[in-house]
Formats: sequence, structure tokens, C-alpha cells
Amino acid sequence: MNQELHPSTVAVTAGRGPREPGAPTNLPVTLSSTFHPGGERIYGRHGNPNWSALEEVLGALEGGRALVYASGMGAISAVLERLPVGSGVVMPFDAYYGARKFVYEAAEHGRLAYKEVDVSDTASVLEAFDSVELLWLESPTNPLLNVADIAALAEGAHERGALVAVDSTFATPLLQRPLDLGADIVVHSITKYISGHSDVLLGAVVTRDDQTFEELLKRRSLGGAIAGPMESWLALRGLRTLPLRLERAQVNAGELARRLGAHPVVSRVRYPGLPDDPGHEVAARQMDGFGAMVCFEVADAAAADRVSEALEVIVDATSLGGLESTIDRRSRYAGEESVPEGLLRFNVGCEFVEDLWADLARALDAISLERAT
Ligand SMILES: *Cc1c(COP(=O)(O)O)cnc(C)c1O
Repeated sequence: MNQELHPSTVAVTAGRGPREPGAPTNLPVTLSSTFHPGGERIYGRHGNPNWSALEEVLGALEGGRALVYASGMGAISAVLERLPVGSGVVMPFDAYYGARKFVYEAAEHGRLAYKEVDVSDTASVLEAFDSVELLWLESPTNPLLNVADIAALAEGAHERGALVAVDSTFATPLLQRPLDLGADIVVHSITKYISGHSDVLLGAVVTRDDQTFEELLKRRSLGGAIAGPMESWLALRGLRTLPLRLERAQVNAGELARRLGAHPVVSRVRYPGLPDDPGHEVAARQMDGFGAMVCFEVADAAAADRVSEALEVIVDATSLGGLESTIDRRSRYAGEESVPEGLLRFNVGCEFVEDLWADLARALDAISLERAT
């Protein structure tokens, strides 16, 4: 077909099975470790029809070729492990904790060196370069929601001879296309928005570079820590409704961010969709929407915990991207020292917005009352 399809149509239609009489319209789960020789695949560690379908959709959405991994960290470590020993990495000080921890560990063993930067400050990121092999970006960052100017940073990094990888989990393939902005590699934690139901762990790497792709594919087969067909099937089923879920969650997030900003016990709100957010201008330029993650701060850790405990509709739990709203005081985890202690990371879900606001307002009002008495 010559018609250029909208991404929300691609999410629904790509990766379907062959249109043959009697063939299933939905790809079944292929639970087979081995395949008759002479076809596309002979053994389950090298390939599986359920991975292929999910990879086809993700590749089409990002404009590259995708590889599925057993988790987001599986995808991230595949990219980082490929770097030659002694390579330098520049990465956000507020990158996903697992990615930072991976690099810290590698540095301890002398395999990688790293510098941490504030990705929202393009000039200072590029100043950090000095024999750097990889610029690792995340945008928006988890959990501080800083926004990186991917196009400007990719251009600067390439001039300095570095590759650029972007963890685009918060944006999803529908809101941001890092490869179009000049990045070499995109990674996703499929666990989050793409699968969308908090019931699967999976990850993906997407690239346009054939050599990178072939090398990662070879290493995935040899490494052997592969994704399961059932998880891949579930993730694809989730991905089919990503456009709908995101549309709803994003509208909710915009509305709740605005209302949170006006609440007297909330000292700060970060959401790239707010016109006065430091990341707004770049996000408006490089994204097709601002996503559904909102962070807000209350006085301290104890106040944040009282808010979380008082919530009934919104669930106090980590992770994000599921249908249900969740809230997480990030400072409760070791390794999140750069996060203000009263910061709540709010994954806005698909519930009716007034129910979410009533839940939040009740929990926040309880704190105002405590203060007043
Ligand atoms: C959750 C997350 C990851 C890690 O993904 P897993 O599937 O949990 O391994 C990586 N990056 C970001 C931004 C995440 O939110």
C-alpha cells in the first residue's frame, strides 16, 4: 500500500499475520522451541513469530528495525555492553536508576568511564565530551521530567564522534521519534506504556544502522536471555491500544498537572505540557504530545507518604504506564539522592479525571488541615 498511515493506525495494523483463507486474523502464541528447517527460523533462541510481530510494529513506529529483550534493562544492557572496554559514556544524572547503576558497576570494574550531565542544558552536555563513545539520553527523564533537545545534542555528539542512544520510554513511540531527530539507537521499557497493563516485563532496542542491528541480534542469540513468546504476545496486544490509552491518560495528566499547581500544599509541579515548565519549549518542538507522567512536590517525605497513604483510587506503587494511576515517592529508594524528598512521581492513568482529582484533592486537603491545626 502506498498510503502513508498515521502512527495510531500502524499500531493497530502492523505485524498482522498473512491474509490467507482460513488463517487466524490474530497471531496466535507460538509455544515451540524448535521449527521445521528451511524456513525463517529453526530454534526459539534465534527467533519467534511473536517477537517478530512485536518487532515489526515497533520498528514501523520508530522508523527503524527493532529487537525485543526480556526487560527494559535487557535492552539497555545490550546497548551498553556492546561498547568497547574503556569507552566513555555521557549520561543524565537523573537517568533511570537501573541504567545509571549498570554504568556505575561497569566503571567500578574499569570497563566504562562516565560523566553525568543535566540533559536540559545542551551546552554543558557537549562540554562534557572528551573521548566519549556514547551519549546516553533519556527524555523526558525518569523521575525528574527533564527534557533533552535530542536533535541539537545528536548533532553535537556526532560532530564529536559519539553515538547517541535515547531511552524514550516516557514518550512512547507515538509521541517522540528519536531516530528522526538524529539518534542512532532508541530503547524502550515495553513494561511501561507499550504493554500498558502492568502485567509484563519486556524491552526493545530500535536502530536504522544495519551493523548495529546485526551485532545486537547475534549477541542476543548467543547471550540467550531472551523474551518469552507469551510476554511478546501480551505486549503486542497492549500496543494495539496504546494510541487510545495515551490519548486519555495525556488529557488527564494535563488537567491534573494544572490543578495540582494551584493547590496550596504543592510547592512545585513538573509536567512538560505546562507552558511555564522548563522543558516545555523543547518538548513542544520535538514531541507530538507531552505524555502522562507528572511530578509534584510537597513539604517533605513524611507529607508525601501521608498523601500516598490517603489515596484510594490512585495506587501507591512503583512502575508506570499501566491503565491504572500509580504514585511513587522516589526518594524512598537508595540511589535516588538527586530527587527531592517530597517529590511524588505520578503516573496518570485512564480513569475518569474527576475521580482522580477528587482522590488527590482529598489527600492534599488533609495535609492543609493538619498544617492549619
Ligand atoms: C522502567 C524503566 C526502565 C527499565 O525497564 P524494565 O522493563 O523495568 O527493565 C528503563 N528506563 C526507563 C525510563 C524506565 O522507566
